[in-house]
Amino acid sequence: MITILPSPQSAKQWFDQQRQKNLKIGFVPTMGALHQGHLSLVARSVKDNNVTCASIFINPLQFNNLDDLEKYPGNSQADVESLEKTGCSMIFTGTLEQFFPEANDPGEIQYEDPGPRGNGLEGEFRPGHLEGVVTIVRRLFSTVGSCNAYFGEKDYQQTLVVHDLARNMENEGIHINVIICPTIREDSGLAMSSRNQRLTERQKIIANRIYLALAQAKQSWEAGLCDADRLEKQMQDQLNHSEIFIDYAAIRDQDKWTTDTPDFEISNARALVAATVGEVRLIDNLYLGSRKL
Ligand code: AMP
Repeated sequence: MITILPSPQSAKQWFDQQRQKNLKIGFVPTMGALHQGHLSLVARSVKDNNVTCASIFINPLQFNNLDDLEKYPGNSQADVESLEKTGCSMIFTGTLEQFFPEANDPGEIQYEDPGPRGNGLEGEFRPGHLEGVVTIVRRLFSTVGSCNAYFGEKDYQQTLVVHDLARNMENEGIHINVIICPTIREDSGLAMSSRNQRLTERQKIIANRIYLALAQAKQSWEAGLCDADRLEKQMQDQLNHSEIFIDYAAIRDQDKWTTDTPDFEISNARALVAATVGEVRLIDNLYLGSRKL
């Protein structure tokens, strides 16, 4: 039977017990409404570790838009069943008050700085979002302690700021090994997302242009087009549709991650898109390069 713990405090005790038994711990943070993308992280963790834990917490701090938070899907019984089936040993959750006991009200919560890799793209178009992510992820990592932690490539900029957070937490004696897992897609190519539930079948077909734009950028890069400006222009053309509202269709160099489009020939880059279809904001990205993840 899967263990379900209602607070970070009770989860901490569970992690201490696992560590006393010398068990290798894998951790998958989620906001619930789980799909095959989330479960692929859990499956990878189950393979790598002795015990796997998932957190389910819809973190209000990372929603810069109240409407988005209110419409965020939830399906807790199905989540528990699918986690158990995938081999997860424990699920924990908590309230904002339990994660931040020092704050008398949410206004007193001290936000973490995501650092320079949080600038631009999501940092620009969702102000406060990545701050909210690293603020909760620090508390989650403090709860779990040293572990292997699994994140999805779909939220690429999130993986960068989480990497930087993990590096900072080394100073506190907490060793988090961040493992990035590939994006799981629908057959059409559309990246799986809890938010896809809010798209109609017609909107899903329109939203698939996001993947097609990224795939075309990758194809062009593979065919020798290394000019980031031109690749961005190509993606924007692909996304040109009356029902798609583009936040960005951008190329960034992975090593020199800055807020600018590279002005040199790219060889280790990411194509990234954020766009809204209907009322649903979607993000996706593809790697343009020859290194392994
Ligand atoms: P969320 O519940 O949306 O905050 O996502 C929890 C974790 O699942 C994050 O690390 C996401 O990057 C990851 N994730 C979400 N969608 C996918 C997907 N389609 N493929 C792989 N990982 C994903």
